[in-house]
Amino acid sequence: MSVVSVEAIPVAYPEPNDHGAERHLLLVRVVDSSGAVGWGEAVTMWPEASRATAELVRGLGDLVVGRDPVAVDAIWRSLREHTWWYGGAGIASFAIATLDIALWDLRGQLLGRPLLDLLGGPAKQRLPAIASSHATHVAIEDLVGEIAAWVDGRAEGAKVGFGKRGDANLGFSHERDVAFVGALREALGPQAQIMVDLGVRVRWSVAEAVARTRAFEAFGLHWIEEPLGADDPAGYETLRAKTTTLIAYGEREWNVRGLERIVASGTCDVAGIDPGRAEGISGFLRAARAAEAAGTQVNAHSWSSAIVHAASLALSWATPNAHQLEFKPHANAMQQELAGDTFVAPAAGGWALPSSERPGLGIEVDETVVERYRLDR
Ligand SMILES: [Mg+2]
Repeated sequence: MSVVSVEAIPVAYPEPNDHGAERHLLLVRVVDSSGAVGWGEAVTMWPEASRATAELVRGLGDLVVGRDPVAVDAIWRSLREHTWWYGGAGIASFAIATLDIALWDLRGQLLGRPLLDLLGGPAKQRLPAIASSHATHVAIEDLVGEIAAWVDGRAEGAKVGFGKRGDANLGFSHERDVAFVGALREALGPQAQIMVDLGVRVRWSVAEAVARTRAFEAFGLHWIEEPLGADDPAGYETLRAKTTTLIAYGEREWNVRGLERIVASGTCDVAGIDPGRAEGISGFLRAARAAEAAGTQVNAHSWSSAIVHAASLALSWATPNAHQLEFKPHANAMQQELAGDTFVAPAAGGWALPSSERPGLGIEVDETVVERYRLDR
Protein backbone atom coordinates (compact mmCIF):
# COMPACT_ATOMS: atom_id res chain seq x y z
CA MET A 1 0.00 0.00 0.00
CA SER A 2 1.12 3.55 -0.54
CA VAL A 3 -0.27 7.00 0.20
CA VAL A 4 -1.95 8.52 -2.85
CA SER A 5 -3.21 11.87 -1.50
CA VAL A 6 -2.82 14.31 1.38
CA GLU A 7 -5.46 17.01 1.85
CA ALA A 8 -5.26 19.86 4.38
CA ILE A 9 -8.69 20.93 5.64
CA PRO A 10 -9.04 24.06 7.83
CA VAL A 11 -12.21 24.02 9.96
CA ALA A 12 -13.72 26.39 12.55
CA TYR A 13 -16.58 25.85 14.99
CA PRO A 14 -18.10 27.46 18.09
CA GLU A 15 -16.76 25.71 21.23
CA PRO A 16 -19.47 25.38 23.93
CA ASN A 17 -16.75 24.57 26.49
CA ASP A 18 -15.22 27.99 25.86
CA HIS A 19 -18.27 30.27 25.90
CA GLY A 20 -19.00 29.61 22.23
CA ALA A 21 -15.70 31.10 21.05
CA GLU A 22 -14.67 30.26 17.49
CA ARG A 23 -11.97 27.61 17.49
CA HIS A 24 -9.83 26.66 14.49
CA LEU A 25 -8.32 23.25 13.69
CA LEU A 26 -6.32 21.96 10.76
CA LEU A 27 -7.55 18.51 9.80
CA VAL A 28 -5.70 16.27 7.39
CA ARG A 29 -7.23 13.55 5.20
CA VAL A 30 -4.71 11.00 3.95
CA VAL A 31 -5.82 8.32 1.46
CA ASP A 32 -3.88 5.22 0.48
CA SER A 33 -3.96 3.04 -2.62
CA SER A 34 -6.53 0.66 -1.07
CA GLY A 35 -8.93 3.60 -0.58
CA ALA A 36 -8.52 3.66 3.22
CA VAL A 37 -8.73 7.14 4.79
CA GLY A 38 -6.69 8.32 7.78
CA TRP A 39 -7.50 11.48 9.73
CA GLY A 40 -5.16 13.82 11.57
CA GLU A 41 -5.56 17.08 13.47
CA ALA A 42 -3.40 20.01 14.50
CA VAL A 43 -4.77 22.13 17.35
CA THR A 44 -4.08 25.44 15.64
CA MET A 45 -6.74 27.52 17.48
CA TRP A 46 -6.41 30.66 15.31
CA PRO A 47 -7.17 31.18 11.60
CA GLU A 48 -3.72 32.39 10.55
CA ALA A 49 -2.07 29.40 12.27
CA SER A 50 -4.47 27.06 10.44
CA ARG A 51 -3.70 28.69 7.07
CA ALA A 52 0.06 28.52 7.65
CA THR A 53 -0.14 24.89 8.79
CA ALA A 54 -2.28 23.99 5.76
CA GLU A 55 0.43 25.38 3.47
CA LEU A 56 3.13 23.42 5.30
CA VAL A 57 1.04 20.23 5.07
CA ARG A 58 0.62 20.72 1.31
CA GLY A 59 4.39 21.02 0.91
CA LEU A 60 5.22 18.14 3.25
CA GLY A 61 2.57 16.01 1.52
CA ASP A 62 5.08 15.50 -1.30
CA LEU A 63 7.25 13.56 1.17
CA VAL A 64 4.31 11.40 2.26
CA VAL A 65 2.68 10.52 -1.08
CA GLY A 66 4.11 7.25 -2.43
CA ARG A 67 5.22 6.02 1.02
CA ASP A 68 3.81 2.98 2.82
CA PRO A 69 1.75 4.33 5.77
CA VAL A 70 2.75 1.35 7.92
CA ALA A 71 6.26 2.87 8.02
CA VAL A 72 5.01 5.79 10.11
CA ASP A 73 8.19 6.14 12.18
CA ALA A 74 10.41 6.43 9.10
CA ILE A 75 8.04 9.01 7.60
CA TRP A 76 8.01 10.99 10.89
CA ARG A 77 11.83 11.08 10.84
CA SER A 78 11.93 12.26 7.24
CA LEU A 79 9.42 15.06 8.00
CA ARG A 80 11.56 16.25 10.91
CA GLU A 81 14.70 16.05 8.80
CA HIS A 82 13.12 18.00 5.95
CA THR A 83 11.98 20.83 8.26
CA TRP A 84 15.48 21.25 9.77
CA TRP A 85 15.64 24.98 8.99
CA TYR A 86 12.11 26.14 9.81
CA GLY A 87 11.03 23.32 12.15
CA GLY A 88 11.81 22.62 15.79
CA ALA A 89 10.09 24.99 18.18
CA GLY A 90 7.41 26.34 15.83
CA ILE A 91 4.37 25.58 13.75
CA ALA A 92 6.12 23.03 11.54
CA SER A 93 5.35 20.78 14.53
CA PHE A 94 1.62 21.30 13.87
CA ALA A 95 2.09 20.01 10.33
CA ILE A 96 4.12 17.00 11.47
CA ALA A 97 1.55 16.29 14.23
CA THR A 98 -1.49 16.23 11.97
CA LEU A 99 0.23 14.11 9.29
CA ASP A 100 1.60 11.70 11.89
CA ILE A 101 -1.81 11.14 13.53
CA ALA A 102 -3.39 10.45 10.12
CA LEU A 103 -0.64 7.96 9.27
CA TRP A 104 -1.10 6.10 12.58
CA ASP A 105 -4.83 5.95 11.83
CA LEU A 106 -4.11 4.48 8.38
CA ARG A 107 -1.49 2.11 9.79
CA GLY A 108 -4.07 0.67 12.20
CA GLN A 109 -6.64 0.28 9.46
CA LEU A 110 -4.17 -1.50 7.17
CA LEU A 111 -3.08 -3.86 9.96
CA GLY A 112 -6.68 -4.28 11.18
CA ARG A 113 -5.81 -3.31 14.79
CA PRO A 114 -6.87 -0.45 17.09
CA LEU A 115 -4.28 2.23 17.90
CA LEU A 116 -4.03 0.97 21.50
CA ASP A 117 -2.84 -2.43 20.19
CA LEU A 118 -0.24 -0.76 17.99
CA LEU A 119 1.03 1.13 21.05
CA GLY A 120 1.56 -2.11 22.98
CA GLY A 121 -1.81 -2.48 24.70
CA PRO A 122 -3.12 -1.10 27.98
CA ALA A 123 -0.57 -0.34 30.70
CA LYS A 124 -3.21 -0.05 33.46
CA GLN A 125 -6.49 -1.45 34.72
CA ARG A 126 -8.38 1.82 35.00
CA LEU A 127 -8.08 5.38 33.77
CA PRO A 128 -9.95 8.11 35.67
CA ALA A 129 -11.87 10.63 33.55
CA ILE A 130 -11.55 14.29 34.53
CA ALA A 131 -14.10 16.89 33.40
CA SER A 132 -12.17 19.84 32.02
CA SER A 133 -13.81 23.11 31.08
CA HIS A 134 -14.19 26.83 31.69
CA ALA A 135 -16.84 27.88 34.20
CA THR A 136 -19.22 30.69 33.34
CA HIS A 137 -21.06 32.00 36.41
CA VAL A 138 -20.34 34.95 38.72
CA ALA A 139 -21.32 33.76 42.22
CA ILE A 140 -19.11 31.09 43.78
CA GLU A 141 -22.05 28.85 44.69
CA ASP A 142 -23.25 28.96 41.08
CA LEU A 143 -19.75 28.20 39.78
CA VAL A 144 -19.45 25.24 42.11
CA GLY A 145 -22.90 23.95 41.11
CA GLU A 146 -21.94 24.23 37.46
CA ILE A 147 -18.72 22.23 37.93
CA ALA A 148 -20.41 19.63 40.15
CA ALA A 149 -22.84 19.00 37.26
CA TRP A 150 -19.90 18.35 34.87
CA VAL A 151 -18.54 15.73 37.27
CA ASP A 152 -21.75 14.09 38.47
CA GLY A 153 -21.63 10.34 37.75
CA ARG A 154 -19.17 10.62 34.85
CA ALA A 155 -15.84 11.91 36.18
CA GLU A 156 -13.43 11.36 39.04
CA GLY A 157 -12.76 15.06 39.30
CA ALA A 158 -12.58 18.40 37.53
CA LYS A 159 -10.00 20.68 36.00
CA VAL A 160 -11.07 24.32 36.06
CA GLY A 161 -9.65 27.04 33.83
CA PHE A 162 -8.76 30.29 35.59
CA GLY A 163 -8.49 33.59 33.69
CA LYS A 164 -10.79 32.44 30.90
CA ARG A 165 -13.59 34.21 28.96
CA GLY A 166 -16.88 34.92 30.69
CA ASP A 167 -17.83 36.20 34.12
CA ALA A 168 -16.21 33.63 36.43
CA ASN A 169 -13.15 35.90 36.91
CA LEU A 170 -11.15 33.22 38.66
CA GLY A 171 -7.43 33.80 39.18
CA PHE A 172 -7.57 37.52 39.99
CA SER A 173 -8.30 37.65 43.75
CA HIS A 174 -6.45 35.54 46.31
CA GLU A 175 -9.35 35.47 48.81
CA ARG A 176 -12.01 34.68 46.21
CA ASP A 177 -9.89 31.98 44.55
CA VAL A 178 -9.24 30.27 47.90
CA ALA A 179 -12.93 30.47 48.82
CA PHE A 180 -13.79 28.95 45.43
CA VAL A 181 -11.41 25.99 45.76
CA GLY A 182 -12.63 25.37 49.32
CA ALA A 183 -16.27 25.41 48.21
CA LEU A 184 -15.51 23.12 45.28
CA ARG A 185 -13.80 20.60 47.59
CA GLU A 186 -16.84 20.68 49.84
CA ALA A 187 -19.17 20.05 46.89
CA LEU A 188 -17.14 17.32 45.16
CA GLY A 189 -16.15 15.42 48.31
CA PRO A 190 -12.79 14.32 49.68
CA GLN A 191 -11.91 11.80 46.93
CA ALA A 192 -12.39 13.96 43.85
CA GLN A 193 -9.35 15.19 41.97
CA ILE A 194 -9.37 18.97 41.59
CA MET A 195 -7.01 20.70 39.20
CA VAL A 196 -6.59 24.42 38.55
CA ASP A 197 -5.31 25.55 35.13
CA LEU A 198 -4.10 29.12 34.66
CA GLY A 199 -4.93 30.78 31.34
CA VAL A 200 -2.87 33.47 29.64
CA ARG A 201 -4.99 36.32 31.03
CA VAL A 202 -3.72 35.63 34.57
CA ARG A 203 -0.21 36.77 35.49
CA TRP A 204 0.90 35.68 38.94
CA SER A 205 4.26 36.67 40.39
CA VAL A 206 6.26 33.82 41.87
CA ALA A 207 5.26 35.03 45.36
CA GLU A 208 1.56 35.05 44.39
CA ALA A 209 1.87 31.58 42.87
CA VAL A 210 3.47 30.29 46.08
CA ALA A 211 0.78 31.90 48.26
CA ARG A 212 -2.12 30.62 46.12
CA THR A 213 -0.72 27.11 45.84
CA ARG A 214 -0.06 26.87 49.59
CA ALA A 215 -3.60 28.06 50.33
CA PHE A 216 -5.08 25.55 47.85
CA GLU A 217 -3.04 22.76 49.48
CA ALA A 218 -5.32 22.99 52.51
CA PHE A 219 -8.09 21.72 50.21
CA GLY A 220 -6.04 18.90 48.64
CA LEU A 221 -5.57 20.42 45.19
CA HIS A 222 -4.35 17.63 42.91
CA TRP A 223 -2.29 19.84 40.61
CA ILE A 224 -1.73 23.44 39.65
CA GLU A 225 -1.24 23.93 35.90
CA GLU A 226 0.87 26.65 34.28
CA PRO A 227 0.81 28.89 37.39
CA LEU A 228 3.87 30.68 35.97
CA GLY A 229 3.12 30.20 32.28
CA ALA A 230 5.06 28.06 29.85
CA ASP A 231 8.62 29.24 30.35
CA ASP A 232 9.90 30.33 33.77
CA PRO A 233 12.42 27.70 34.94
CA ALA A 234 13.73 29.79 37.86
CA GLY A 235 10.21 30.65 39.02
CA TYR A 236 9.15 27.02 38.85
CA GLU A 237 12.21 26.01 40.85
CA THR A 238 11.18 28.38 43.64
CA LEU A 239 7.54 27.26 43.52
CA ARG A 240 8.61 23.61 43.54
CA ALA A 241 10.78 24.19 46.62
CA LYS A 242 8.04 25.96 48.60
CA THR A 243 4.95 23.84 47.86
CA THR A 244 3.92 20.19 47.75
CA THR A 245 1.10 20.26 45.16
CA LEU A 246 1.93 18.68 41.81
CA ILE A 247 3.05 21.28 39.26
CA ALA A 248 1.84 20.72 35.68
CA TYR A 249 3.06 22.40 32.51
CA GLY A 250 4.40 21.48 29.08
CA GLU A 251 1.38 21.62 26.76
CA ARG A 252 2.85 24.66 24.99
CA GLU A 253 6.06 22.83 24.10
CA TRP A 254 6.44 22.12 20.41
CA ASN A 255 8.55 19.01 20.32
CA VAL A 256 10.19 16.10 22.08
CA ARG A 257 13.31 18.15 22.88
CA GLY A 258 11.28 20.87 24.64
CA LEU A 259 9.44 18.32 26.75
CA GLU A 260 12.68 16.53 27.62
CA ARG A 261 14.12 19.86 28.80
CA ILE A 262 11.13 20.49 31.09
CA VAL A 263 11.36 16.99 32.53
CA ALA A 264 15.12 17.36 33.08
CA SER A 265 14.56 20.65 34.97
CA GLY A 266 13.04 18.69 37.86
CA THR A 267 10.37 21.39 38.29
CA CYS A 268 7.51 19.68 36.43
CA ASP A 269 5.58 16.86 38.11
CA VAL A 270 3.03 16.39 35.31
CA ALA A 271 4.18 17.12 31.76
CA GLY A 272 1.29 18.14 29.51
CA ILE A 273 1.77 16.78 25.99
CA ASP A 274 -0.51 17.70 23.11
CA PRO A 275 -0.35 15.10 20.32
CA GLY A 276 -2.03 17.67 18.03
CA ARG A 277 0.88 20.05 18.52
CA ALA A 278 4.06 18.32 19.71
CA GLU A 279 4.89 16.17 16.68
CA GLY A 280 1.93 13.79 16.83
CA ILE A 281 1.57 10.32 18.32
CA SER A 282 5.23 9.57 17.48
CA GLY A 283 6.33 12.71 19.34
CA PHE A 284 4.09 11.97 22.33
CA LEU A 285 5.49 8.45 22.67
CA ARG A 286 9.09 9.69 22.76
CA ALA A 287 8.37 12.50 25.22
CA ALA A 288 6.32 10.21 27.48
CA ARG A 289 9.14 7.66 27.61
CA ALA A 290 11.63 10.37 28.61
CA ALA A 291 9.21 11.44 31.35
CA GLU A 292 8.74 7.85 32.51
CA ALA A 293 12.51 7.37 32.80
CA ALA A 294 12.67 10.48 35.01
CA GLY A 295 9.70 9.42 37.18
CA THR A 296 7.53 12.26 35.83
CA GLN A 297 3.82 11.92 35.10
CA VAL A 298 2.36 12.98 31.76
CA ASN A 299 -1.08 14.26 30.81
CA ALA A 300 -2.36 14.08 27.26
CA HIS A 301 -3.89 17.33 26.08
CA SER A 302 -7.03 15.67 24.78
CA TRP A 303 -9.06 18.86 24.72
CA SER A 304 -9.79 19.15 21.01
CA SER A 305 -11.68 17.25 18.28
CA ALA A 306 -12.62 13.55 18.30
CA ILE A 307 -9.37 12.91 16.39
CA VAL A 308 -6.92 14.22 19.01
CA HIS A 309 -9.21 12.86 21.73
CA ALA A 310 -9.01 9.34 20.24
CA ALA A 311 -5.23 9.62 19.98
CA SER A 312 -5.00 10.91 23.58
CA LEU A 313 -7.28 8.14 24.85
CA ALA A 314 -5.16 5.33 23.36
CA LEU A 315 -1.90 7.05 24.36
CA SER A 316 -3.10 7.53 27.95
CA TRP A 317 -4.07 3.87 28.25
CA ALA A 318 -0.75 2.73 26.78
CA THR A 319 1.43 5.09 28.83
CA PRO A 320 2.19 3.82 32.36
CA ASN A 321 2.90 7.33 33.69
CA ALA A 322 -0.40 8.87 32.44
CA HIS A 323 -2.89 8.73 35.31
CA GLN A 324 -6.02 10.45 34.00
CA LEU A 325 -7.77 11.59 30.82
CA GLU A 326 -9.51 14.93 30.44
CA PHE A 327 -12.79 15.25 28.59
CA LYS A 328 -15.04 18.16 27.69
CA PRO A 329 -18.32 18.03 29.63
CA HIS A 330 -20.36 19.84 26.95
CA ALA A 331 -21.10 18.06 23.66
CA ASN A 332 -19.62 19.91 20.70
CA ALA A 333 -19.47 19.88 16.91
CA MET A 334 -15.96 18.49 16.56
CA GLN A 335 -16.47 15.53 18.90
CA GLN A 336 -20.00 14.09 19.08
CA GLU A 337 -21.12 15.59 15.75
CA LEU A 338 -17.91 14.75 13.85
CA ALA A 339 -17.59 11.15 15.06
CA GLY A 340 -21.19 10.32 16.10
CA ASP A 341 -21.49 7.06 18.03
CA THR A 342 -17.81 6.28 17.44
CA PHE A 343 -16.75 9.11 19.77
CA VAL A 344 -15.70 7.37 23.00
CA ALA A 345 -17.09 9.29 25.98
CA PRO A 346 -16.25 8.28 29.58
CA ALA A 347 -18.23 5.42 31.08
CA ALA A 348 -20.80 6.00 33.80
CA GLY A 349 -18.95 6.20 37.09
CA GLY A 350 -16.09 8.36 35.87
CA TRP A 351 -13.76 6.02 34.01
CA ALA A 352 -12.34 6.41 30.53
CA LEU A 353 -13.00 3.31 28.42
CA PRO A 354 -10.01 1.66 26.75
CA SER A 355 -11.01 3.09 23.35
CA SER A 356 -12.79 1.52 20.48
CA GLU A 357 -12.12 -1.96 19.10
CA ARG A 358 -12.27 -0.49 15.64
CA PRO A 359 -8.93 -0.27 13.81
CA GLY A 360 -6.74 2.83 13.81
CA LEU A 361 -8.06 5.79 15.79
CA GLY A 362 -11.37 3.90 16.04
CA ILE A 363 -13.55 6.79 14.95
CA GLU A 364 -15.60 7.22 11.83
CA VAL A 365 -15.30 10.82 10.70
CA ASP A 366 -18.54 12.11 9.15
CA GLU A 367 -17.34 13.93 6.05
CA THR A 368 -20.58 15.90 5.74
CA VAL A 369 -19.73 17.44 9.13
CA VAL A 370 -16.20 18.22 7.92
CA GLU A 371 -17.69 20.00 4.88
CA ARG A 372 -20.13 21.93 7.08
CA TYR A 373 -17.34 23.50 9.14
CA ARG A 374 -14.74 23.69 6.39
CA LEU A 375 -13.39 27.18 5.66
CA ASP A 376 -11.83 26.89 2.19
CA ARG A 377 -14.69 25.33 0.19
MG1 LIG B 1 -3.83 23.76 30.22
